[in-house]
Amino acid sequence: MTVVDQARASTYDLARVRADFPILAREIHGRPLVYLDNAASTQKPRIVAETIAECYGGWYANVERGVHTLSQLATAQRERARETVARFLNARSAEEAVFTRGTTESVNLVAEAWGRRNVGPGDEVLITGLEHHSNLVPWQRLCEERGAQLRVAAIDDAGEVRLDEFERLLSPRTRIAAFAHVSNALGTVNPVREMAAMAHRAGALALVDGAQAVPHMLVDVRDLGCDFYAFSGHKVYGPSGIGVLWGRKEILDAMPPWQSGGGMVQTVRFEKTTYAPPPHRFEAGTPFIEGAAGLAAALDYLTAMGLPAVGAWESELLALATARLAEVPGLRIVGTARRKAAVLSFVMDGIHPHDLGTILDHDGIAIRAGHHCAQPVMERFGVPATARASFGLYNTPEEVEALAAALHKARELFG
Ligand code: PLP
Repeated sequence: MTVVDQARASTYDLARVRADFPILAREIHGRPLVYLDNAASTQKPRIVAETIAECYGGWYANVERGVHTLSQLATAQRERARETVARFLNARSAEEAVFTRGTTESVNLVAEAWGRRNVGPGDEVLITGLEHHSNLVPWQRLCEERGAQLRVAAIDDAGEVRLDEFERLLSPRTRIAAFAHVSNALGTVNPVREMAAMAHRAGALALVDGAQAVPHMLVDVRDLGCDFYAFSGHKVYGPSGIGVLWGRKEILDAMPPWQSGGGMVQTVRFEKTTYAPPPHRFEAGTPFIEGAAGLAAALDYLTAMGLPAVGAWESELLALATARLAEVPGLRIVGTARRKAAVLSFVMDGIHPHDLGTILDHDGIAIRAGHHCAQPVMERFGVPATARASFGLYNTPEEVEALAAALHKARELFG
């Protein structure tokens, strides 16, 4: 069976999935929308919008400090959402799930709250060569501020982290290793369980940036054995502006607060303030109340679809796209790791990725072009930018064919 046959023979209920996403019915420049920019942000199923509308229409109020009914309802909804997150990640308890604005804020929280207390002069932080800027710059700044050293495990020509180097760079000086579960620029799936174990053997903590993993695969933080896991709602079919930092309870318990203000305190006196236990210690100020509910709706939706089925479907799309794009003259795929998830980065001789993005947009096809907030990855592969098609649970083999046809057309017109 060819990959096309395999994709078509799948029992995955694609029509039902697509019907859940109203935006997919719209046209762009008079053509059906082909949305292949899922790694940047996913579209939202109806249930997420309905949940947010229900919040405004039925139970909205500020959380935590209210005695009136709506405030208690809103507080209960938020804590229920936290429990959904904990279940989604197989966390030990909901107290381990901190709501943040997204992956970026989650990493900054750890770098600043945990990092300032635990990383000092002469210490080291280890990252890899495929990190998104949001799992790089916070560590770089921490190291600069604390007189520590940032170490980087290189990637090979396929875009895989060189595990021998990762292990070699770990030492008793390493305080934390921070690495992506899935690379947004290359699609590489890192062996994060193994990497977390390596970090622990060296006495370091392990933070996993899961922004690109949670939409595509079951994540079990206990099984992975990491200490922190971060992800963003908007990449997992939920609202933008909400995300999660999962942290091992004993580590969160020992961490000082990050931002300060209302909601993160126990008692406040001019002489001394005492802080709430996690997760509220790390959630200063009025949170994104409706966002947490929307995120929980998205996670429930994905769970009901079955992440293994979603991942299998996306693997078929990726295999089909890889085969089809390899047939386009002058096209080179950037990132050929053995294990990849839903991301296809490529460059084409004679056509800048940005121009490619514009050309495809005229056919209604949304891809991303640029450095994908991973400039060191672009440098590693000697390209200023790539074009990137990334797949979600609602994409179809026909859309992959449309992408390939548009690239052939671009080749003929501009190549
Ligand atoms: N990490 C990875 C691997 C990403 O792909 C992204 C976003 O593209 C981020 C972190 C940052 O996520 P956010 O902008 O939602 O904070």
